[in-house]
Order: sequence, then C-alpha cells, then structure tokens
Amino acid sequence: MRSHYCGELNASNISQEITLCGWVHRRRDHGGVIFLDVRDREGITQVVFDPDRADSFALADSVRNEYVIKLTGLVRARPEGTINPNMRTGEIEVLGTSLEILNAAQTPPFQLDEHQAVGEDIRLKNRFIDLRRPEIQQKMRFRSKVTSVLRRYLDDNGFLDIETPILTRATPEGARDYLVPSRTQQGSFFALPQSPQLFKQLLMVSGFDRYYQIAKCFRDEDLRADRQPEFTQVDIETSFMSEEQIIAMTEEMITNLFKELMNIDLGTFPRMPYSEAMESYGSDKPDLRIPLTLVTVSDLMADVDFKVFSGPATDPKGRVAALKVPGGNSLTRKQIDDYTKFVGIYGAKGLAYIKVNDKSNLEEGLQSPIVKFLPVEVRGALLERLEAQDGDLIFFGADSAKIVNEALGALRCKLGEDMDLYTCEWAPLWVVDFPMFEETSDGGITAIHHPFTAPSCSPEDLKANPLTALSQAYDMVLNGTELGGGSIRIHQASMQEAVFELLNISEEEQEEKFGFLLDALKFGAPPHGGLAFGLDRLVMLMTGSSSIRDVIAFPKTQSATCLLTQAPGEVSEKQLKELSIRVRKPVAE
Ligand code: ASP
Repeated sequence: MRSHYCGELNASNISQEITLCGWVHRRRDHGGVIFLDVRDREGITQVVFDPDRADSFALADSVRNEYVIKLTGLVRARPEGTINPNMRTGEIEVLGTSLEILNAAQTPPFQLDEHQAVGEDIRLKNRFIDLRRPEIQQKMRFRSKVTSVLRRYLDDNGFLDIETPILTRATPEGARDYLVPSRTQQGSFFALPQSPQLFKQLLMVSGFDRYYQIAKCFRDEDLRADRQPEFTQVDIETSFMSEEQIIAMTEEMITNLFKELMNIDLGTFPRMPYSEAMESYGSDKPDLRIPLTLVTVSDLMADVDFKVFSGPATDPKGRVAALKVPGGNSLTRKQIDDYTKFVGIYGAKGLAYIKVNDKSNLEEGLQSPIVKFLPVEVRGALLERLEAQDGDLIFFGADSAKIVNEALGALRCKLGEDMDLYTCEWAPLWVVDFPMFEETSDGGITAIHHPFTAPSCSPEDLKANPLTALSQAYDMVLNGTELGGGSIRIHQASMQEAVFELLNISEEEQEEKFGFLLDALKFGAPPHGGLAFGLDRLVMLMTGSSSIRDVIAFPKTQSATCLLTQAPGEVSEKQLKELSIRVRKPVAE
C-alpha cells in the first residue's frame, strides 16, 4: 500500500510522489491549511493539505488523533525557517494530494506524548496504544536487534537452536511452579519450566554438543521491578568445554553485543570469588561502579562493652562490618534517620555511625552516639583499618552475617545512587567459586544454584563438608544486576545421587522426579556445562530502562496479572469438570 515509511523520507526524496500509510499523530489547523503529523514505526512526517484540493482538505479536516490513513503527495523542502533539526524528516514535508481514511479511531485513553500523566495501570490496560509510543517502539526494536546479534554469534559458533517442552515436569530453580492440570491424566499436573535446565542437559547426553534457545521460563515468585512471572532466557549448554572456556566464550558474546549495538567496550571482565563479593560488597552481584566497600571489624569489637557489637562479633554466624563514606560527614540527621529506616527493610535493627571530625583527637574528634562504648585503642584501630580521613562517616552493621550483608550491601548501592558516587558507566564482572549449598532457616541445606551444579570436590569430600564445598558455578554481573549464571554440571550419576541425598531427597523421590536424568547420566553423559542470560534484564540495562516491564511487549503487573487480557481469568464449569477440578472459595485475606 505504501511507497515509503513516513520516518525514512529526507531531502533526497524532494519532488517525488510518494504514498504513506500510518497513524495521525497530531492534526493542526493553521488558518486554512491543515497539518497532519503522520506516524509509522519509522517516525513522523509532516503532511500539508491546502484548500485547493477540496476533497482531501475536507477529509484531512475530519481526521482525529490515531486515525489510520493512507495518503499520496509530493515531497517538498520545508519553507525557510520551518526546518526542524530535531526531526529525522525535519527538512521536508509532503504536500498531500489525496487522502483515504483506512480506519477511524476513538479518542485514545491517553495521548501518546502525555503517557506520563496516566498511571502505568492505564498504560498496561491499553498496551496496544502504549506500544505505539516511539520510545517503547525503539526499545522493542533494540530488543529484536539484541536477539538477532546473539543468535548470529551462537549460530556462527556452532550452536544449534533446539526447542524444549513447555508442558513438562518441575525443573527446580528455587521458585514455585506454575501448574497446568492434565485432562487426559486426571489429577496429574504439568509444570511450566522454570528453565530448560534438564532438557538441555539431556541434549548434551544425546550428543548435540552445543545448544541454545531463546526460551520462555516461568517462576511463580514474589515480583520486583526486575522480575516477571514469565521471562526470557538466552539458554546455552555445551559439552566438553571447561568452566574457563565457557566463561571466555560467553564473555566474548556479551562484549561483542555491546560493541556492535552501542559501541561500548566492556573490556575484560574481572573475576571475583563469591567469598570476596560477600565480604567486601555484601552481595553476590556487586555493583563495582560504586567505590564503597564493607570492612569486617568483628575482631576489634569482640571485647567492647557494647552488646550490640560484641554479641555478633563473637557469634560464629554474626558479623560486625563498617562502611566508610568519604565526605559523608555532611549527611544530616534526617538523612541518617532515612538510611536507618532503609536498612530496616533488610532486618537491621539500627544503623550505628561515627562522624570523623578530627581523627587526630580520638577523645573528642569523633561524633557518634556509640563512640562512648568504644575504648580509645579500638577507635584508633578502627580508623586505621578503614583509612578514615577527617570528613568521613562510618556506618556499622552488627547482626547475623546475612542481615549485615544484605543491609550494608543495599545501603552501599543506595549511597552510590543518592550521592552519585559512580566511577564508571559499565562495571561487568564474573562471580565465581560459589558454595554448593547454603543453610536454610530450618537447619537444612539447599543448593545455591540448582542441584545439577557440579561441586569442585569428590562426592566423599562433599558429603563430609557440604557447607564449605565450592561449586563450579559462575554468574555474570553487570552494574549490580545478575545478567546470567550457570555452571559445569554433574555428569556422573553417583555424584548426582550424593547431592540429592545431601538435599534430603529420598531415593523414591529421586526416582520419581529425576529418574530420567539419573538414567541419562548412566548412559554415556559427557562432561557438560552452560549458562543462561536473562534477556529482559539485559535489554533493560542496555536501554537504561528503570523497569523490566518497559522492555517486554506484554508484561504482567507486580501482582502477576495481565491488565490487558485480564489473565488469569475464571474458567467455565464445563472446563473444570473435564479436568475433575472443583475450586474452593479462596480463603478471605
Ligand atoms: N538453568 C539456570 C537458570 O535458569 C541457568 C543455568 O544453570 O544454565 O538459572
């Protein structure tokens, strides 16, 4: 129907007769001349209708925003003084000669350029209109480029794109499953995949050697700004490659991507053991753009006459850590109170601090509600360890190591943001040497990655010291966000059984849930490993979006619903009957 896209016209088209199709972005009546800004996915062109052509003029006069039109006209240079350098098509305009209304439109619930004035719920409910916004169109196009560049890299490196089932059994990645009732096997349920993990491992057992898939994954967990119940992973698995080789190859894939699409050189990614990440950043996804670090001071506080510090300092599971904020002395009481509330979200019961006014005067030069509890030698040792200078402020966390890490780790990022402490724009790294397991609150153990991750030790050593055993897992982190993670997998049944046993999964349960995997490992499973990148998060970071919803065409809300389709929805009695399901009234909150 069209000869050109609106957004691609420029001075080289002057004097050409062209036909455009698109939406009326804006209509303006300038004293007898009608201007239509016509929009399509490539951009906007200004079209002028003058009264000489009565038919098209009358039609142009009748159109309203978001009408779908087709027009023919002559491209001409814009008159002197009306050139718009901010518009791709700003040098030209089209003199309309004929106009056809392909479809009328009701007044949209919000104007595209006034989307900020309406709540996100209105935008999501009318997503088909929201998606017309040039900004979102750009993001969707960028996302499409990202997948195409990644696919090209993987294709060029011999990876095969293989699909895996959506109706399947539980694939444990630490979240709740989405379940689908079976009609043919009444009382039984499929689970939607939390990841293609086990299938991709089976593909390695089958000899495909290199697999990838841009795969939908489903996890029923509490949502945050960077999580969605269904999301997309660039899922990768390889055989006969070492951890080092997998890391090198996927790092190259990501650095190529940034170079090609954004002309950004990410450099070589540093590696950091998990233990150092927790010790210095309180997080397994440290944001290395922020120069602040946590410093353990438990040893200095073990004997002080201040239970809040000495308790955790002497508890094997406790930690006392300090976070020095250079120049932080200028923080006001109110700001410190706000940070105290902030760390409360992470379970911290308070936020002790010391302002360093004069480090040469340990008696009077430190300003703090708690300094009176610290002997002068401790004050001196503390300042020395932190290399504190006059004008600095030191925050403290004293609690279980978990709470201290989470609270100070988050505070560090918050301070980085509030005080704009960023030292660079992009800070990628690999976090390596993760422990195999962590303790659960009920005293059991759980896999830090997933139970198919290979430990760095023998089954015997693993059984003897499960909580100190390391795994061959690795995470790629960018600006404090986990971009991807994976591991070398267990490829021997005996090791897999040892891990299941440690996780307290009985033999019957192993057989029932993972019998097919254990079988496969007994029939010639090669050494294999891989990882998966969160595509939505990657695109979110690359486009500087604040929410993952901005880079997903049809996202769900924080409460895991789709406002557009009203999913999840009720189903008919008949459907339930076919599934032998009776719904109990939901328990009132
Ligand atoms: N399946 C893992 C995940 O979804 C990634 C991997 O280990 O490859 O987190």
